[in-house]
Amino acid sequence: IRIAVLKERESGERRVAMVPAVIERLTRIECAVTIEAGAGAAMGIADDAFVGATMVDDVATLVADADIVLAVQPPNPETLAAMREGALLVCFTQTADMPAMSDRLAARQITCLAMERVPRISRAQAIDALSSQAALAGYYAPLLGATHLGRILPRMTTAAGSLRPAAVLVMGLGVAGLQAIATARRLGAVVEGYDVRPETRDEAASLGARFVETGVDARGEGGYARELTPEEKQTVAAAVTRHLQAADLVITTAAVPGRPAPELISAEQAAGMKAGAVIVDLAADSGGNCALSQPGETVHSGGITVIAPLNVPSRLAEHASELYARNILNLLELLIVDGELAPDWNDEVLAAMRLGPVDEPAGQRDNTAIA
Ligand code: NAD
Repeated sequence: IRIAVLKERESGERRVAMVPAVIERLTRIECAVTIEAGAGAAMGIADDAFVGATMVDDVATLVADADIVLAVQPPNPETLAAMREGALLVCFTQTADMPAMSDRLAARQITCLAMERVPRISRAQAIDALSSQAALAGYYAPLLGATHLGRILPRMTTAAGSLRPAAVLVMGLGVAGLQAIATARRLGAVVEGYDVRPETRDEAASLGARFVETGVDARGEGGYARELTPEEKQTVAAAVTRHLQAADLVITTAAVPGRPAPELISAEQAAGMKAGAVIVDLAADSGGNCALSQPGETVHSGGITVIAPLNVPSRLAEHASELYARNILNLLELLIVDGELAPDWNDEVLAAMRLGPVDEPAGQRDNTAIA
């Protein structure tokens, strides 16, 4: 089975879909791996480090006879057009212009497995790229915030006197939020957490964070949250405001599937925060959780700093690529049986990930837009 790995072209994308450590595992399941020259350059991996793979300069040649094409971001139209008819494409598709991409996939009979559509079930955990990437982003957020604070996170006793630990509030306790709590605790902060799914109370507690009770339960489908009603938003705001006012560092990670990121911090709430406080908004890719967030920017307003970084996993490109490549390996182990590409499209994991069925006439394709 011929596998081609693309160099990423999106600006700011330093990750790559395959790393040297995973290539050997692919060759064990009878895959021949070709990689676009320079694919690892953005994260400091030279071509000759991809031992066991063949490096190819020209992208059209690379994908022309590949059975499976791997990427992080969706490939550009020229690359899709150069792919072999009926090939498989594996990548994230959130940033794709979906109707146009669906047409291009249909034109080449390409089936795309969208890495952000892995169902949140136990047997799919090893493939779950949203989780692997969110865990790294969550880890990183307190570090980023800490470098913008004029104070330290732990308690420190010095000959000149003692410094009190910083107060960190993490809003949204999914995969990223729980990792943010863990990092903030390791750095010595006093940490509080809040989510609209009550089951996160115990998870926060097990990591040493106090849960902010709001009395709102917004459990939705499939382990995700649902959008809050206007009344619930008021109830939450009333409960959370004084914790925001006490916080030195706030990390927001809230998302609701298929919706823009919910606003967790209004402009008024932000204005009421302590001078010198910092907000790190990890939801910037989907619009942001703070009214002051400018995705991709750091803004200073009324004495506070609001950082809204885009594509945080790319900043940890080495580990993000390694985990993503392992997610893909686990996916390929599901697709490849005895050295043959034999996807079972009735498998609920593959069915959920698949865009553009190979075995249906073009008119009936599932071109569902990804929100
Ligand atoms: P997510 O990125 O969709 O959202 C992040 C968090 O924001 C969630 O915890 C959500 O409840 C919270 N949130 C939404 N609206 C909010 C609001 N108004 N105020 C405060 N918080 C709000 O979530 P995620 O990290 O992808 O995880 C979602 C769930 O899926 C979690 O329960 C997680 O444990 C579960 N999960 C399961 C698997 C698996 O079983 N394979 C894998 C990954 C995640």
